[in-house]
Amino acid sequence: MRVANLNGRATIVTDGGLVDVERASHGQFTHEVDSLISRIDDLAAWLATTSPRVTEEVSPEELLRSPGLGPVLTAPSQIFAIGVNYRAHAVEMGLTPPASPMVFTKFPSSIAGANAHIPIPSSSTDWEAELVVVVGKRGRDIAADDALSSIAGYCVGQDFSDRELQLRGTPAQFSLGKSHKNFAPVGPWITTRDEIDDPNDLQITCDINGHRYQDSTTGDMLFSVAELVSYLSTICELRPGDLIFTGSPHGVGQGQHPPVFLNAGDVIETSIAKLGSIRNVADQG
Ligand code: ZN
Repeated sequence: MRVANLNGRATIVTDGGLVDVERASHGQFTHEVDSLISRIDDLAAWLATTSPRVTEEVSPEELLRSPGLGPVLTAPSQIFAIGVNYRAHAVEMGLTPPASPMVFTKFPSSIAGANAHIPIPSSSTDWEAELVVVVGKRGRDIAADDALSSIAGYCVGQDFSDRELQLRGTPAQFSLGKSHKNFAPVGPWITTRDEIDDPNDLQITCDINGHRYQDSTTGDMLFSVAELVSYLSTICELRPGDLIFTGSPHGVGQGQHPPVFLNAGDVIETSIAKLGSIRNVADQG
């Protein structure tokens, strides 16, 4: 099942059109994506048994271009992000692979939709294509073997980064440099976990103005999705709707020779197999 946020309303995306969750279920399920997420398994079961009629004849491709396509969730209680989590990315950044996950946050006010415009705040604004995990269940101390079943689903994300601000200070603290306005676009929709057999076997790409800079697989992660969920839950309570940006593969702007950064007018297309694509345009900051 694919669930989008269209004009603030939870919407199931099918190849035949869109299903407004609240209207089609006659109020059995809420239109609010953030509170719906803890009932996503019930919603999938309802969809399978009810086969509701399409409420809008809009194709997934048309939906991607809709200005009403909002972030898959609007107010997660926590957004975790993982640094240096792909082998080849550690090499291009000249960093030693960490012994345990390197965790920072993107503050929730940086969340944006799949086709949001991104104001460019500095001359060192970079891209990072990322698989984003949507937590489905509340929990602490989740075993790695149980971790995938605590996930509601997955989506595509961009971890936009102001490198100068990210690395300013001694020691550097990443979070502010990752949290400018619209620096965390997520979408185009949540694909529920039952559709993804192995989240560590997905092609992930990022094109800037049609040139492919990132082309890798989530299989290159140092810490798998299950390991990340388990590790974070040993420290923080995970809650439905929390997001985990799982790190970026190689091919970021900082890793080019010479480095390449984003300018107003650039088009950033980020794709993950089975999850879809998001398309963001850089604007004057
Ligand atoms: Zn990142």
